Amino acid sequence: MIETANIKITRTQQSRLSEVDFDNLPFGAVFSDHMLVAHYRNKQWEQASIKPYGNISLSPATSMIHYGQSIFEGMKAFRNSNGEVMIFRPEMNWERINKSAERMCMPTIPREIFMDGIRQLIDLDRNWVPTNEGSSLYIRPFLFGTDPMLGVRPSDTYTFMIITSPVGPYYSKPLHLKIETEFTRAALGGVGFAKAAGNYGAAMFPAKKAQEQGIDQLIWTDAKEHKYLEEAGTMNMMVVLDNTLLTPPLKSTILPGVTRDSFLTLAREAGYQVEERPISTDEVIEGARNGKLQELFGVGTAATTAQVIRLTFGEETFELPAIEGREISNKIGKKLLDIKKGEITDDHGWNIRF
Ligand SMILES: *Cc1c(COP(=O)(O)O)cnc(C)c1O
Repeated sequence: MIETANIKITRTQQSRLSEVDFDNLPFGAVFSDHMLVAHYRNKQWEQASIKPYGNISLSPATSMIHYGQSIFEGMKAFRNSNGEVMIFRPEMNWERINKSAERMCMPTIPREIFMDGIRQLIDLDRNWVPTNEGSSLYIRPFLFGTDPMLGVRPSDTYTFMIITSPVGPYYSKPLHLKIETEFTRAALGGVGFAKAAGNYGAAMFPAKKAQEQGIDQLIWTDAKEHKYLEEAGTMNMMVVLDNTLLTPPLKSTILPGVTRDSFLTLAREAGYQVEERPISTDEVIEGARNGKLQELFGVGTAATTAQVIRLTFGEETFELPAIEGREISNKIGKKLLDIKKGEITDDHGWNIRF
């Protein structure tokens, strides 16, 4: 068992930083100079290393490719005007990747490798953390099975990696979402709560069908009756109905978002009425008709606070209230972002700074 991460660092000979156009960053297509790699073999984690970003070599029989033992995380680093880097609640991501790991029969990742790994990697690539408004350094830790073996069973060997990518906004404009009532993202007892690779592959076909009709993303509903809202793309959903902030309760079909938890905490502290309870499509659609639906938005690390301006349900499409007038999402969304960027005091001690 490794107690403190003794990470071997090999620096790049030639930084690619000067080639990056920080004013035109796509999401997730540019990668910083270094990456972290740690291997799990013989039932233990070996010394982690940080090395120049580059391709990896795998057997064509690598179990992850065939049977999907692959999980990931997503977080963002911000840099303030003093050059300090901030990362928001990374401990929650560490706990969550280990819950995903348990569900997928994968080894858990020691705290030291995850936390020190992120810190040392980002410290080395500090200048890759953008300072432009709306930009950040997206951090992608991931773990996958590497046995070169076609039997269907949990792999004995694994690789954990962290790569980072300077990114601009995930969504550049308010969204048109559709409430999905045919296809299913996750069923009770399944792996919806895990950030498991296969969940995202399975969601692409229904999302693509919707995109062909000009819709940006889907709001998934429960697998059994397609009557209750679950989440959307890589965001948890929030609704303001009749002055109450609502979000579906956590269960095995819903990814427990760090943004969701933080948003609910700040909204409660600001004195808003907040309820975690099942939200039926009927009450949302009725609210869209009679004006009680005041706000609809998604929350997630990548998407931050993503406003929904248009909602399709069956054959009908509703125009939702103007974004400027949305009190809770605007106020709490800004507060959350200001905390992440280190621009206001972080009363909860959520950020790590270095
Ligand atoms: C990552 C993710 C979220 C948001 O989680 P955060 O921790 O807030 O980034 C929500 N839903 C799904 C399906 C996700 O993959």
